[in-house]
Amino acid sequence: MSQEGCLFCRIVRRQLPAEIVAEADGLIAVKDVNPQAPTHLLIIPTEHIASLADLTEAHTTLMGKALQLGNRLARQYHLTPDGYRVVINCGPQAGQSVWHVHVHLLGGRPLQWPPG
Ligand code: AMP
Ligand code: ZN
Repeated sequence: MSQEGCLFCRIVRRQLPAEIVAEADGLIAVKDVNPQAPTHLLIIPTEHIASLADLTEAHTTLMGKALQLGNRLARQYHLTPDGYRVVINCGPQAGQSVWHVHVHLLGGRPLQWPPG
């Protein structure tokens, strides 16, 4: 189910321009508009799910596929064997700014730990 005013639903519906780099079963991957690393992609379910905390049992396969797509893109963008990071920000204190669940894929530079 798509949500009218949601930024990522609008990208999924092609109502907002975005650099789509992959489309898979129930998922799209786009370049982040404000990249925090040389490679910064977002893996976005086409279904509107507001946040990680809203996932149900029914989303288990979908989120597994999101991680698999992340691995495929990491190889495609030559992030292996150096390594990469996948992040899901959940809720205001984690810095979630778009309320449609998405997986960040970051790589291409050394990444600090712990994150800020
Ligand atoms: P988060 O803070 O985890 O909710 O991440 C939201 C991400 O979406 C941020 O990294 C933004 O730079 C990114 N973003 C916001 N608007 C767009 C857009 N129109 N196209 C691509 N990425 C976007
Ligand atoms: Zn949405």
